[in-house]
Amino acid sequence: MEPAIIVHGGAGDIPPELHQAHQQGVRRAIEAGWELLVAGASAMDAVEAAVVIMEDDEAFDAGRGSFLNADGQVELDAGCMDGAELHVGAVASVQFIRNPIRLSRAVMDRSEHVLLVGQGAQRFAHKMGFASCDLTDLAVPREFARWQKLLFGQSSPARQPFSPPSDTVGCVALDRAGHIAAGTSTGGTPNKMPGRVGDVPMVGCGFYADDRLGGASSTGWGESIAKVLLARLVLHHLQQLGDPWAAAEAAIEDLAERVNGLGGIILLSPDGRPGWHHNTPHMSRAYRTSTMDAPVVRI
Ligand code: ASP
Repeated sequence: MEPAIIVHGGAGDIPPELHQAHQQGVRRAIEAGWELLVAGASAMDAVEAAVVIMEDDEAFDAGRGSFLNADGQVELDAGCMDGAELHVGAVASVQFIRNPIRLSRAVMDRSEHVLLVGQGAQRFAHKMGFASCDLTDLAVPREFARWQKLLFGQSSPARQPFSPPSDTVGCVALDRAGHIAAGTSTGGTPNKMPGRVGDVPMVGCGFYADDRLGGASSTGWGESIAKVLLARLVLHHLQQLGDPWAAAEAAIEDLAERVNGLGGIILLSPDGRPGWHHNTPHMSRAYRTSTMDAPVVRI
């Protein structure tokens, strides 16, 4: 099988001054994942590597650079899925962990569970040898300033954050063995209620992968995405329509029509054809397949 990979760096109204950082970020992520796939690595390894790059990049709302919650803390959600055997791992509301996508993979590979949350997830992380970090390793001055403004100004209703940027990250990859994997990671929404969990760590909502159906990763207003199981929904449309671009459009149409939702989706078909769609002003994204000399990068 020829490999393929697609990533996103969030759907929203990304201000012009951030466009370059977003495009550079998704480009670096896709290049790292592509290099691994070409060398014969698994789709899951490529997804993890691409997402880690974006978690470490403070341009995005994942890992370092995440939005703060109403208490001025960072709470992170992430999930991943291996389409070969439908293995899933996810974490929600974890703090002081630099790369929650790695922790979600540890849940998948090294626990009997699908989703761990909060302190239990953190205890598992320490048991698995993950180093703790400080709040300042995750929260950057830009986000402290945003938090202060929101705290002393208006609160942030759920639908509104998608007018300021929303920069969740995600990736779907197909490897040479024909396996598909998907992963998504986020700091959630700005000024969110402590304990709030969006779509990202919920299987079928923020991510989904099945070698027989394809793989997908979502971004946008999590409360709306969760209601339509956007990542699974787009693969249903792919089965019906056969074309990833049409499937993405149909899924985002459903999101808007059924729940007045806002967001974006990326996907790969089982044979590595990419698709994406969003109803927000922007979504930073990139893909590469074996017929291309360089990735396509868009915002
Ligand atoms: N979907 C994420 C959430 O609601 C936010 C995003 O995609 O940026 O937590």
